[in-house]
Amino acid sequence: MAESIRVLFVEDQETDVTLARHALEHDGLGFEWRCVATASELGCALADFNPHIVLCDYTLPGYSGRAALDLVRRLRPATPLLFVVGSIGEDGAIACLKYGAADYLLKSNLLRLGTAVRRAIADARERERTQEVESSRLRLAEVLEASPDMVVMSDPAGRITFVNHAACALLGHSRDQLLGMEWSGTCAVPLDARLRQEALHTATQNGSWQGEIAIAAPYGAAIATSQVVTAHKDTNGTTRFFSMISRDVGDRSSFEARIHQLVNYDSLTGLPNLAYIDEFVRRSIVSAHDSSSLIALVTVNLDGFRLVDEGFGRAVGDVVLRSVGAALKSAVHERDAVARVGPDEFLIILSRLAHSIDAAARVQRILDSIAAPRSFAGQEVQLTASAGIAVYPSDGGDFESLLRNATAAMHDVKCKSHGRLQFHSGDVQQRAQRRLGLETGLRNAIRHHELSLFYQPQYEIRTGRACGVEALARWFTPGREAISPAVFIPVAEQAGLIGELGAWVLQEACETVMAWTDQGEEPPTLCVNVSTQQICKEFSAVIARTLEHSGFPAERLELEITESVLLGNAELALECLAQWKSLGVRIAVDDFGTGYSSLSYLSRLPVDRLKVDKALVHGMTSEPRAAAIVHTVVSLGQQLGFTVLAEGVETEQQLAMLKDLGCHQMQGYLLAVPSPATEARTLLSRRWGARRMSRSRAAYAATASLGVH
Ligand code: C2E
Ligand code: MG
Ligand code: MG
Repeated sequence: MAESIRVLFVEDQETDVTLARHALEHDGLGFEWRCVATASELGCALADFNPHIVLCDYTLPGYSGRAALDLVRRLRPATPLLFVVGSIGEDGAIACLKYGAADYLLKSNLLRLGTAVRRAIADARERERTQEVESSRLRLAEVLEASPDMVVMSDPAGRITFVNHAACALLGHSRDQLLGMEWSGTCAVPLDARLRQEALHTATQNGSWQGEIAIAAPYGAAIATSQVVTAHKDTNGTTRFFSMISRDVGDRSSFEARIHQLVNYDSLTGLPNLAYIDEFVRRSIVSAHDSSSLIALVTVNLDGFRLVDEGFGRAVGDVVLRSVGAALKSAVHERDAVARVGPDEFLIILSRLAHSIDAAARVQRILDSIAAPRSFAGQEVQLTASAGIAVYPSDGGDFESLLRNATAAMHDVKCKSHGRLQFHSGDVQQRAQRRLGLETGLRNAIRHHELSLFYQPQYEIRTGRACGVEALARWFTPGREAISPAVFIPVAEQAGLIGELGAWVLQEACETVMAWTDQGEEPPTLCVNVSTQQICKEFSAVIARTLEHSGFPAERLELEITESVLLGNAELALECLAQWKSLGVRIAVDDFGTGYSSLSYLSRLPVDRLKVDKALVHGMTSEPRAAAIVHTVVSLGQQLGFTVLAEGVETEQQLAMLKDLGCHQMQGYLLAVPSPATEARTLLSRRWGARRMSRSRAAYAATASLGVH
């Protein structure tokens, strides 16, 4: 203790004071001193001498050590008092300490005096310091308690160690419930990850984090708060604890919009994230279940994206990701969804599929759109991606299992090659491969003019006169494999090739049949099949152009549609059909009797002819129901003024029955199979009474589905 201390003696014996002073000096203590012997002197000295320690005799004439101790405790509670006594019994010693004396010493043994004084002063100072700390802590706690802001403190692991009144009130929990709880547990659930990762991480790195967070209020409500998270560190830089101060923010609507954006969307691409897509899939599953349709969950992972990041730099990598995100978004239908779920991974949800393999062509187009070369700041980047597909409900009934299976399929295909897709189900995968092969083949076939048309004559039942011809598309692959239109027309529809294919069929058929006629002669009625997807304004223009270029008379052209035309955009369909009619073209309803609310449709469609479906014609001779339907259709036609043609007539029995029913026309293998143009032309020029089919019925049966011969 290098500083000089002030010692106040309460003593009536001057020699005792001298002895005590010598003992202190001997001990090397630098001090000033004063001596008092009465209560009033003691009171004054405590005030103006302001001693660091009081050394007090226990028995004084006219005054007592006890009374002196009381006075010191009252006036200077922090100043230690040490009894220096002539003699003291054990009881007296205990009493001294009990009353609050710092220590006691015998006058006969002052060797310990210096040490005792030093210790008493040090203890008093320590006590004073502790008290100061404690009272400032209490003051602080009072301020925190009174604050309207929510104040929370947590240990470095994020477990709550302090909460103020406002926090308890906002969170709707008692202090006891909150202490020890995870801090992230006080946040509205989807924000946990953001809180833990961003706020605590940033606060640990930079000292503090500031941002907006929704906290979980009672009854599932979320309260928008602006928060400051501070990491309090020791001198080594290790975090001792975190404090979080949050304020209820005023403008909740913009905050909520921001929170929604942060919670549900990826900040780089602006695409939805996993949290959003999870909810989206759950909803899609419900509606797929209700409508008995399928959903494909597609995991798309960019191949070797790391090389882009490393080779071109992070900034180019970000631009590439944004551009891939935009390409994916524009490659899917509005009702579908695209999300970014990993650094180089996207998730696509394709809904309202009729068959699992329908997803294949769509995903292949998506992969093709990713593979298109991109140029960034003068750099050309070409990427491929691999996709795994899981289909609801066959590959999983919930989001988790679908995601797991799609991801497993994606990893599987990635191991084998890049830029390919794979279904979770091996069975679907095989069919998908075939479908994709077909799509590529058909694309090439259209490009290389490998498609051709066969023609099947139609006859008047009453007279046996040939009255028309139906053009039927044929695809013979370079290996002479014949692929049925029942197979490739749906592929063309799904691959977006039907417009091109349909325009070619119309033009080829009009030109071919026109060439059959001599100058000035009318061609037979030409029937051309039109897929529902072709019913659009562009096709109306194609019809007008074709009629003009080929010179084919409009009233001899009959376009065959199916009953399903009104199932989609009925208004557009009716508008298009009206345009066709205004061009003078005839309209037939193909495959009639198998479809939807058949009869009610007829009143809305501008129809000239009905083609009774061959399934009904086939069933007619054995099933009374089929016969009744054909009968109804024929009489309906008679009443409403449609011509009725029976398709797929194969037997004399069917023909006889149709004749009895009064059906107008027929088409079928019995009289003529679909044939190449030159043969069809020859067949057309004959009445059926004069027909001589060059083939046996067995030969027809063998080639029936394609009309190949
Ligand atoms: P569709 O329009 O109902 O054509 C009649 C189908 O029945 C043809 O099948 C024809 O070969 C077959 N057929 C004719 N007579 C008989 C018979 O007596 N018995 C049996 N069992 N079948 C007979 P194809 O040529 O295989 O065509 C299948 C379907 O593909 C067509 O049915 C039509 O919906 C579609 N299609 C064909 N060509 C085109 C086209 O150019 N465009 C569009 N959009 N669809 C086409
Ligand atoms: Mg047809
Ligand atoms: Mg038909």
